[in-house]
Amino acid sequence: MIYRIVKAIPAIALGFAMTTGLQAEEAKPRIPEVCVVNGDKFAERKNSPITVSHNGESIVVCCKKCSKKFEKDPEKYIKLYKEALAKESKAS
Ligand SMILES: [Zn+2]
Repeated sequence: MIYRIVKAIPAIALGFAMTTGLQAEEAKPRIPEVCVVNGDKFAERKNSPITVSHNGESIVVCCKKCSKKFEKDPEKYIKLYKEALAKESKAS
């Protein structure tokens, strides 16, 4: 019985963390598992992700090269980014 109670506490804490995370989402867009421009895994890259914006919408790409590509066709990559995030939330 006691074990069950102890197990429930981190779950509640996680719930709070997720709620606060949502509020920060507007300023900092979610990072998908892979860069939508070149398909690199963010976790495997050493440089920090770059946030790029177009018409008030922001996405995260893995490097400067990708941000240049994004600028050439922002709508395409915003669409890909949204699809990637939707897929990831369905999977988890
Ligand atoms: Zn890149």
